[in-house]
Amino acid sequence: MTNRSLTRDEAVRRAALLDVASYDVALTISDDPIFTSRTVVRFTCAEPGSSTFVELADAHAWTATLNGGDVPQDRREDNRIRLDDLLADNELVVEATLPCVTSGDGMHRYVDPADDATYLTAFCGSDLAQRVFACFDQPDLKATVTLSVAAPEDWTVLGNGRPITTDDGVRRFATTPPISTYLFVVSAGPWHSVAWEHAGLPFAWHARRSLADALEREAAHLREVTEACFDHYTDLFDEPYPFDSYDQVFAPGLNWGALETPGCVTFRDEMLAPDGGSHTDNQLRAMVIAHEMAHMWFGDLVTLRWWEDIWLNESFADYMGFEVAQTAAGFEATWAWFTLSREHTGYAADERRSTHPVAQPPESVVDTDTGFANTDMITYSKGNAVLRQLVTWLGPDTFAAGVNRYLGAHRFGNADLADFLTALDGVSDRDVRGWADAWLRTTGFDTLVVRTDDGPPVLHREGSRPHRTQVTTYDVRGGRLVAAGQEQVDVAADPVRLAANAGQVVLPNSSDETFARVRPDPESWSALLAGVGTIADPQARAVVWTTGFDLVGHAALAPSSLVAAALEQLPGEPLPSIWEAVVERLLEVTLPRHVEPADVPATREALTRLADRTTSPDLALPARRLMVSCTADVQRLSAMLEDEPDPDLSWRILVRLAELGAVDADRIERFETRRPSAQARTGAARALAALPTTEAKERAWDVFSADDVDNRVFHAVGLGLWTPEQAELSAPYVERYLDQAPVWAARRGQGFSRAIGGVFPLHAVTEATRERLRTALDGDVPTVLRRAWNDRLDDLDLDLLVRRARRTSR
Ligand SMILES: [Zn+2]
Repeated sequence: MTNRSLTRDEAVRRAALLDVASYDVALTISDDPIFTSRTVVRFTCAEPGSSTFVELADAHAWTATLNGGDVPQDRREDNRIRLDDLLADNELVVEATLPCVTSGDGMHRYVDPADDATYLTAFCGSDLAQRVFACFDQPDLKATVTLSVAAPEDWTVLGNGRPITTDDGVRRFATTPPISTYLFVVSAGPWHSVAWEHAGLPFAWHARRSLADALEREAAHLREVTEACFDHYTDLFDEPYPFDSYDQVFAPGLNWGALETPGCVTFRDEMLAPDGGSHTDNQLRAMVIAHEMAHMWFGDLVTLRWWEDIWLNESFADYMGFEVAQTAAGFEATWAWFTLSREHTGYAADERRSTHPVAQPPESVVDTDTGFANTDMITYSKGNAVLRQLVTWLGPDTFAAGVNRYLGAHRFGNADLADFLTALDGVSDRDVRGWADAWLRTTGFDTLVVRTDDGPPVLHREGSRPHRTQVTTYDVRGGRLVAAGQEQVDVAADPVRLAANAGQVVLPNSSDETFARVRPDPESWSALLAGVGTIADPQARAVVWTTGFDLVGHAALAPSSLVAAALEQLPGEPLPSIWEAVVERLLEVTLPRHVEPADVPATREALTRLADRTTSPDLALPARRLMVSCTADVQRLSAMLEDEPDPDLSWRILVRLAELGAVDADRIERFETRRPSAQARTGAARALAALPTTEAKERAWDVFSADDVDNRVFHAVGLGLWTPEQAELSAPYVERYLDQAPVWAARRGQGFSRAIGGVFPLHAVTEATRERLRTALDGDVPTVLRRAWNDRLDDLDLDLLVRRARRTSR
């Protein structure tokens, strides 16, 4: 049985026909890997006598009655049950027995290796509610939800509404306002909880029982960030907070960073690090808290009608996440971190064949799977950057007024791009629609180039969009770059003569308010790269570093030059998130994709020196992590391990020792069983897969390809299986992966499919790999995996092109 993706045409027809009033959902859950659901749906039909269908996916067994009459079993085809002879007012009752999953797509079941406790969470985006209860699974058929759950007595059960009664082991929850099916959540298990009241509402954080110490340690900070964000939003938005409680759960197995389910947000449980995280880990978590809370208004109160407008959810939440983490939650220069750690994914996405306008043409999002595949870094990262330019262009007050008009007009309903533009148009006398045509309905990005031609600098735009942006001028004094002036310029077709004098160093878009590639004049660029560490403004430092990465990625700068600049200037970097973001890109992009294989050991050695030269206490943890992942000094690693560092670092050391072939499987397994935990499970899976022997790779493959492999173990094994220095040893498994991945993707779900595509080994950058991937794409590959593979193919093509260009220029 396959699960058919709902098409846009079907969704439009069904929305015209039906009006769904309510869902009463009764679940029975336990330790077992199956559960039951009984759903009563009340809905009206505009054309009595007609037919429709309700979705129910993967049910082991089901029965249904429509208006009191049985629905025959043969009415079920794939994940749909046909409903005939509709009345004006209808009541549908569906009872089903359903499987739990380990893929993160549906009712995810997780057994904690630390204490064998079971946790269940229903992850329902973007069309997985139908794996939990029978429903009309499309975003514009909103209905109230009344949930009741029978669960083991020692479990805490969380849902969208607040719990109101418990009767004979059955917990009943308050009825929600109208919400979309993808926003349903239930999360259950023996949670450790920290609860409090704020602004008259119940708030709480929940984590696995085995993470109780970590939750208690972080509780004060988590509460502080939560309240700061909440107060910020309730001040900014005219609409009051729309729901009756605010739970936040570190839920194991989530495929996303977090999900914005109303009243009960789920987070990746890795965001609660057992040993404490780095500055950037904490900043990331604050940003995600702010992001998800913004969704309570953007996405939950007002919801997209169909997936072409996913940007109305995600671009806003992404923008708000960084903005509010910086202005309200106490994290300095969060936008500088955006520039370095996230925005580049938007440019990369915009250079692939799969790019699309931020606001997509409706007809291009043919079905839910396509909508899911296109929820990408155009949606998040570019959309965020484009909104930042809109705020600069309109002014923050006008932007806020437009947003409030939009939220007020569509509360508890659905809206689209036209509605948003109408709201903005109503508060601004600028040409908002013209701006939207240039920025939201096009693909690609402009380049801002400074040319001097031996005279004063002039800013040119290569492209088609209007930009309002800052330009900063620097003098070089005693080897330092000292800001000498800053001007805001509006750049369009005509070049702009800048205020700087000939010979001064000029950095365009120095506050990164616009989404454009930056190309300083060559003299300025040399000075900027040589002196980036001396620039006072962290945002400008981030723009220089990100421009360096962009030049490396397009063969205009040697990777070794960028690594040398990092080695020279990063150890003194005062803002931890800039240090961490530069290092992350060096490790995850430059090293695997742009450094020639022969130069990898020397680059790793340089990065080890960078770690050793970094002495700031704020960077002690990330510097140790960097050292461990780069050094080839087995003695040093072994000595560190003997000092028994915290489990996170221990596992990083073991993985590196495994890659170097300096530890055996027995020792890894002993380490895992000595102190079992979620971290130990994935750490051991990765380390075992990274061992440089055929037996280890064969064993890893068996785990990787098992029918019920858990999403986190799958990812960990993927990382180990394809260790960059073991290309020859792992080559046969690339073949097997390309053969079998489409079958896995068809069987599991959208989130897991993306994870399957995500483990494709980019570092195996050879013509042969590329050809093999091209051939695989000629076969039958499900939508979400196909998209991920096509993107990997584009990345391979770009990398091969860049390498060829670099070799030619040598
Ligand atoms: Zn989001």
